[in-house]
Amino acid sequence: MKKIIVIGGGPAGMMAAIAAAQAGAEVALWERNSSLGNKLAITGKGRCNITNNCSPSELINNIPNNGMFLYGAFSRFNSADTIDFFTSLGVKLKTERGRRVFPVSDQAGEIVKAFAQHLNSLGVKILFNKRANKLSVRDGAVDGVYDEKDQLQKADSVIIATGGKSYPGTGSTGDGYLLAEQSGHTVTPLYPALVPLCASEDWLDELCGLSLKNVEVSAYLKEASGNEKLLGSEFGEMLFTHFGVSGPIILTLSYQVCRALASGSVILKINLKPALTYEQLDERLLRDFNKFSRKHLANALNELLPKSLIPVIIRKSAIACDKPVNQITKEERAGLLSLLTAFPVQISRPRPLKEAIVTAGGVSVKELSPKDMSSKLVKGLFFAGEVIDVDGYTGGYNLQAALSTGYLAGIGAAK
Ligand SMILES: Cc1cc2nc3c(=O)[nH]c(=O)nc-3n(C[C@H](O)[C@H](O)[C@H](O)COP(=O)(O)OP(=O)(O)OC[C@H]3O[C@@H](n4cnc5c(N)ncnc54)[C@H](O)[C@@H]3O)c2cc1C
Repeated sequence: MKKIIVIGGGPAGMMAAIAAAQAGAEVALWERNSSLGNKLAITGKGRCNITNNCSPSELINNIPNNGMFLYGAFSRFNSADTIDFFTSLGVKLKTERGRRVFPVSDQAGEIVKAFAQHLNSLGVKILFNKRANKLSVRDGAVDGVYDEKDQLQKADSVIIATGGKSYPGTGSTGDGYLLAEQSGHTVTPLYPALVPLCASEDWLDELCGLSLKNVEVSAYLKEASGNEKLLGSEFGEMLFTHFGVSGPIILTLSYQVCRALASGSVILKINLKPALTYEQLDERLLRDFNKFSRKHLANALNELLPKSLIPVIIRKSAIACDKPVNQITKEERAGLLSLLTAFPVQISRPRPLKEAIVTAGGVSVKELSPKDMSSKLVKGLFFAGEVIDVDGYTGGYNLQAALSTGYLAGIGAAK
């Protein structure tokens, strides 16, 4: 019987261990923590957006970094398989807006528990508080793993599923990158993906905590020529924080923003009223101004904007806040309109890697076989999950990538 060590008890490692055990291998799962799936348990704000109910090609489209490398993985194990898998384990699932799939219980813990029970039922030996420190490689083939006490456990195959380097408190401190490098693999530069963004603006304290729904945020790279190049636009919900901006659409845009920040300065423009055309918004503003014609500008925007945003917008418009509305000129109104449709936020940097939802970069896909996630450099060595240089958007794509690569690595290692 083939002996396999899986390093890491996150979704990728647990799925790899299950697939290998089902294929008849003797599997030991090493987890450095005293419990499985610590990061999994906090996903989706504790609700776990386990996958996205879409086709394999749509999965690939939502993995902007090396998505095509996962073609084989998604052909073998995709969203439909994930839904079947958890349903067969007794976890009831539901599909929400944006085809995001969650457990009906809204409890990520239910997913972790289902994994743990299935691992036990398949006879996978789970070793807690067991941290892999080094691989044993002989004649180009892996033959075991050393733990922190330098004790060697022999194995025919090893699967590295140690995750990325973000949220290190969950156990994902980047050990897998070191193990990969020790065995001759290239690790592409690591950087934060799906991460809040810091802004250099003087209004941060005033807007901190303000959440905006149904807005459109566009990100622009300011080129040396002075031109602004559109990086992407997202519609939905965002949040102002003490350091800058966060929330679902900011996390999605952060993918392009982080890359662009390496080559220049990035500005976000928030359209606060994207459902209205410029003309419709102008009419709306005129209506409000007629209604409140004797009031000061500061008191005439209450029906249009959240309270905390009003003084900031007025300050930026350079109109005196006590100017009576009936004295506001056409040019001043045009200035207000451009702030309402393109409120600027100068981005300074992303939040650090440890605060990112996902680590971008990782073990180079050029050195892995897309058929089974095996190493092209070391025989018997496999990789799964976030440790690989693959990362997706929000919406369940990252967990699906972890599960699909885990499944493939498990089957491959057991062969
Ligand atoms: C706050 C947050 C919310 C998220 N929400 C979602 C979501 O809703 N949907 C989604 O698709 N994605 C989400 N993600 C991303 C998703 O959680 C990760 O992409 C996914 O967990 C990666 O799985 P993994 O198994 O590769 O790694 P991990 O989940 O990081 O698991 C790696 C495991 O390996 C263990 N380990 C590390 N080093 C060693 C070692 N040397 N020896 C032994 N064990 C080791 C760690 O302790 C850990 O348990 C979220 C991430 C965060 C941080």
